[in-house]
Amino acid sequence: MFPTFRADLHCHSTCSDGSLTPVELVRLAKEKSLQGLAITDHDNVTAYTMAKDEAKLLNIALLPGVEFSSQHNNQNVHILGYSFQLDHPQIQALCRWHLTRRWERCQSIIERLSTLGLPLTSDDVADHAHGGLVGRPHIAAAMLKKGFVGSMKEAFQLYLGDGKAAYVPGESISAEETIQALHLAGGVAVIAHPHLIQDPRLFDSLVQLPFDGIEVFYARFHVDQTKRWEEAAKKRNWLITGGSDFHGSIKPDLPLGASWVGEEPFRKLAQLCQ
Ligand code: AMP
Ligand code: FE
Ligand code: FE
Ligand code: ZN
Repeated sequence: MFPTFRADLHCHSTCSDGSLTPVELVRLAKEKSLQGLAITDHDNVTAYTMAKDEAKLLNIALLPGVEFSSQHNNQNVHILGYSFQLDHPQIQALCRWHLTRRWERCQSIIERLSTLGLPLTSDDVADHAHGGLVGRPHIAAAMLKKGFVGSMKEAFQLYLGDGKAAYVPGESISAEETIQALHLAGGVAVIAHPHLIQDPRLFDSLVQLPFDGIEVFYARFHVDQTKRWEEAAKKRNWLITGGSDFHGSIKPDLPLGASWVGEEPFRKLAQLCQ
């Protein structure tokens, strides 16, 4: 049996590379008997405003959330942000900057694909981005529709994955600056999915930064896999967060609520909004 209160603090909507709208996500959270939710789209914060009325109606506690892309020691690091002021100028500026750089990067990837004999237009990609923020999964979906690949997975394996033929790293902003923007906006910064940080030196360096927490519970990880992160959090008196990284049909094997946090950590985050 589940405890009464469960909150999924990591999921994506059509505002980035998820397949459900923010309102649909809230309804799914209700169906899954979740009581708290943070929609953490890549590099944009629009989902909260779109979902908040439905959340109120369905009695789901909704927190402002985001998953910012950043760089540290020349490597990509995802930073989850919670409970920040949505209209804070630093957050808005960061989101505008990411929006521009993502479309520029998409254009560069399209050019690389074209030289590889796989012609796509930015409209082909935009069709899959639902007016939200563009990311590599939308390019993969456009490639699949054109019949260039047999699956989105194949698009990443052959062309779009880090270091592959059409990969473009894209300009990025530092982890420090991202943490600072979240702090200035009254929010917290959390290291996302630490298992993806394969270089132990990168992890050791990241934990020196002024983060507030670490995503200990992730997707379908067993508790044994997360002990290391839990110890790192406890040592620094950091928040322990968790969530599914639900993307809907884009990653169908990961259900909403696969990982979650209980009432106490959720309340700590919710208090920051008051
Ligand atoms: P972007 O933010 O444009 O760099 O795209 C990153 C997103 O692409 C991630 O959040 C995943 O949803 C997806 N992604 C990255 N690598 C892979 C991969 N190897 N296979 C499938 N999806 C991936
Ligand atoms: Fe994603
Ligand atoms: Fe991520
Ligand atoms: Zn994510």
